[in-house]
Amino acid sequence: MSVVVGPGIEHDPRLLNTGPSPFGWHRYETALRCLAAYGYGLEARLLGRRIDRPQLVRGTLVHLGLAHHYARKLAAQKGEKCDLYAPVEAMERLTRLEIAAGGFAPLWQEQLANAVVAVAGYIAHYATERWRVLYVEEVFGLRFGEAQITQRFDLVVEIDGRVYVVDHKTSAKITADHRRFYALSGQFIGMTWIGKYTWGDRFGGPILNLVEVNGSGKPRFQRPALELLPAQVAAFGATVATTFARMKDAAQYPVDQWPKSPSEHTCWTRYGACDHIERCGVKAPAVTLPATAVLGPDGERSLLPAA
Ligand code: SF4
Repeated sequence: MSVVVGPGIEHDPRLLNTGPSPFGWHRYETALRCLAAYGYGLEARLLGRRIDRPQLVRGTLVHLGLAHHYARKLAAQKGEKCDLYAPVEAMERLTRLEIAAGGFAPLWQEQLANAVVAVAGYIAHYATERWRVLYVEEVFGLRFGEAQITQRFDLVVEIDGRVYVVDHKTSAKITADHRRFYALSGQFIGMTWIGKYTWGDRFGGPILNLVEVNGSGKPRFQRPALELLPAQVAAFGATVATTFARMKDAAQYPVDQWPKSPSEHTCWTRYGACDHIERCGVKAPAVTLPATAVLGPDGERSLLPAA
């Protein structure tokens, strides 16, 4: 998935926009995890708060480098002139802009060095790939009733007459689990829906384009096959529509009153604590509803409907 590039970045027409699409799966995913986190995230974006984590910086830079590689390839395949930066130039340029806008310089510089190695390695590794590039960083979308979902596709290619949507993912270590957990991702399920509606029978499916950025100077690359779960794919429209309805309902209230999902599984993910944990847990004004105690030997039974 595309990663947010920090606020306050000067516009440079030679640099591609790889930021999130207007109403992407990231919104639905966050709202499904915790509506309060979704609301706090919206406010943080409006306030222009930066999120600087090594994996986000690394992913942003590699993603940008690959976007420029394929955008220049697209122009070359069409016989057109391309003013976009070369991949390494683009990553260096973004690093300078991010630091100038307040990004943490040592972090960006360290991840730039890793990203340059990874992107150069990627280009050499796939030097003979015969993909016809159709789109780079273009926004596509669908509606389910009033619920819209958009996605900025990293790359759309044609291989032997079929159309594939490619998503670049970076990781510090590629494992067999990547193909399993990305097959469960609404992002890839959404790509499948949008792909089928856009290209019909010509659509070949999503491609997971894994890039290992391990800091050892020897990046690794894989494109494992994804096996999406059919019932999850079938339920996608209902998932989007019902989640959108919950977002719309919550939007009537101040964010501090949106339902929270306090759990070690939601407040503390594999990337660490929720970005909003302080606001949510300490600074938010308490919204306390009256409760009636039902504890006692029959407490549990008393919560069940009368037989
Ligand atoms: S700390 Fe937990 S409950 Fe609060 S916003 Fe984050 S995920 Fe939701």
